[in-house]
Amino acid sequence: MKTHAAQRSSFTLTAFDRCDRCSARAVVVTVMQSGGTLLWCAHHYGLNEAALRAGSAVVVRDERPTR
Ligand SMILES: [Zn+2]
Repeated sequence: MKTHAAQRSSFTLTAFDRCDRCSARAVVVTVMQSGGTLLWCAHHYGLNEAALRAGSAVVVRDERPTR
């Protein structure tokens, strides 16, 4: 689990932030109840969104393009 995003004062994402499941650019940041931070690309966030919500993860940043 990466912690670099949580160590910053904000959760602004840059091109250097990468999905924790693959190497795609991260567009969503979630904070788990445990305090851990996870970065997601749009694809993997979509796959895990239901489980994240069920686990009370908080979305602190969502930069997915609106359609
Ligand atoms: Zn991914």
